[in-house]
Amino acid sequence: MIEEKSMLEVKNLSKSFGGVQALKDVNINIQKNKIHGLIGPNGAGKSTLFNVVSGLYPPTEGKVWFNSIETSYLAPDKISRLGISRTFQDARLVPNMTVLDNVMTGQCFTGYNSFLNLFFKPFYFSCQERKIKKQAIEVLKFIGIPDYADFWTSELVWVERQMVQVARALISDPQLLLLDEPSAGMGIEETKVLSNVIREINKKGVTIIVVSHDIKFISEISDWITVLDFGEKISEGNPEQIRNDPIVIEAYLGE
Ligand code: ADP
Ligand code: MG
Repeated sequence: MIEEKSMLEVKNLSKSFGGVQALKDVNINIQKNKIHGLIGPNGAGKSTLFNVVSGLYPPTEGKVWFNSIETSYLAPDKISRLGISRTFQDARLVPNMTVLDNVMTGQCFTGYNSFLNLFFKPFYFSCQERKIKKQAIEVLKFIGIPDYADFWTSELVWVERQMVQVARALISDPQLLLLDEPSAGMGIEETKVLSNVIREINKKGVTIIVVSHDIKFISEISDWITVLDFGEKISEGNPEQIRNDPIVIEAYLGE
């Protein structure tokens, strides 16, 4: 059997902040078209992994490849253009802007610097803006929140902000989507809606890594799960294997 090459390869990755080693020699392979769960207690290094993969922090040691391109030291905008998009644990949205405008900020204006555009800039910009607005409306519909478009982000409750973040991450048409604790603060019903949205995104061909410390939620949606604890990978496997792994159970009971 020919083994398919991983979409994302994290090799011997370590990240330190002063004396704190947030990631220690972590190896993770993410397969294309899968939903990959990343779990672990608070402070395990989950968000740090996303921050390194999305280019916010350079690794202290180790490397990251995306579609066989080394991205370890690339800036966030370059990584985003390669096809990696993300949400943040603290649901960062731009204040004093509508939901639609927030979603539009997820799409970068490309081609703007070409020579001809110096002459046709106003026309080009308005075309681009109209196109992006249309895309934003489509994405909000796809996520199931078209009615939010004209709301101010300050009017949204936490759960709604999470969904808007997902929409904003999707508008750039990513190949790989990183979701950092999207189910935080959600009740059972809301988590079900989120799970369905994640599955629908995945069906469109987007590979997804979901961070959570909710094993039940992660087990239900993931094809494969990696467990971090104190910056180290302590286990990986399918949901069944993870739920029955004594090392994982201990890490959770010990929290
Ligand atoms: P998780 O997302 O799994 O809860 P984090 O990746 O946020 O964990 O944090 C892992 C460890 O790294 C924690 O001890 C945290 O305090 C530390 N850490 C994360 N980011 C920073 C930072 N920017 N500066 C200093 N310490 C950090
Ligand atoms: Mg985190």
